[in-house]
Amino acid sequence: MIIVLKPQATEAEVNHIIEKVKSLGLTPHVSKGSERTIIGVIGPEDILRVTPLEVFPGVENVIPVLAPFRLVSREFKKDDSIIDLGKGVKIGAKEVVIMAGPCTIENIDSLFEIAREVKKVGATILRGGAFKPRTSPYSFQGLGKAGLQMLREVGNELGMVTVSEVMDSRDVALVADYADVLQIGCRNMQNFNLLKEVGATKKPVVLKRGMASTVKDMLMSAEYILSAGNFSVILCERGIRTFEDSTRNTLDISAVPVVKQLSHLPIIVDPSHAAGKWGLVPALAKAGIAAGADGLLIEVHNHPEEAVSDGAQSLIPERFSSLMGELKGIANSIGRKIS
Ligand code: PEP
Ligand code: MN
Repeated sequence: MIIVLKPQATEAEVNHIIEKVKSLGLTPHVSKGSERTIIGVIGPEDILRVTPLEVFPGVENVIPVLAPFRLVSREFKKDDSIIDLGKGVKIGAKEVVIMAGPCTIENIDSLFEIAREVKKVGATILRGGAFKPRTSPYSFQGLGKAGLQMLREVGNELGMVTVSEVMDSRDVALVADYADVLQIGCRNMQNFNLLKEVGATKKPVVLKRGMASTVKDMLMSAEYILSAGNFSVILCERGIRTFEDSTRNTLDISAVPVVKQLSHLPIIVDPSHAAGKWGLVPALAKAGIAAGADGLLIEVHNHPEEAVSDGAQSLIPERFSSLMGELKGIANSIGRKIS
């Protein structure tokens, strides 16, 4: 349920309603907009049916929420959320944010080299996995803490925001110590304990869509993070499993405008894990921005043929650089920009 207050509602009236909601055993989440305040109410709504809040001074309207997600919904927050990622980078505003880097952190030299290349042409966020969700237990599992240390060193040296995946609740504090942004991978989108754990941190989270999840499932997972107190969530469309086998996954480009309709949260597109082949990455990246994505997550490697994971879908820096030129043109044509 969402309580919309009158523009002229006083502080005392707002507090009175908050106290009333709390006394009913429900949890209020207050969103103060430029024109009016909105209170999202979490908990069994039946109680509110016998205690009509419409009658309280300052209340304009009480909207029952049909969608099961509340805090992530547009009804709760009309304006797009802009998330501050630190180091001067914000996502969800006019600027389209580019995250790039290797699938896996392999060693400090190659991470530095790749980071310098992507930064030079406008990427502001460095990606790199230290904990890798591999299909086979015999595949390289990531460098763990040593990889995170490299990521932090390179990020600090170059002034880039860093993003890295956390796969296990037990590692949240460790990854949060080293990375600026936590990534929840597609395989863990519905690992609810992990979602609660990252929700308890103050770190921004990139939440990747599960490969067999609907957009609504993804929004419900985001709701876990927001309801735990962390509103800094960036959704990520990275392709879903379909019967089509010419790509690794099918990029569901419509997820971008659908999320924009249903939610105030920013959404980015990962063309690399959707395509599975580097030659398809530029077209999907361009489509993502044209569809209204707030950013892209792109795998780049200086020697893809030697990459320990996802080399086939990684762009070499030269190709990433020419793609960035094209992306800037597309962003400009829809009234946005890339640094
Ligand atoms: C990744 O970003 O390297 C990754 C493993 O992504 P996903 O969870 O989308 O497969
Ligand atoms: Mn990868």
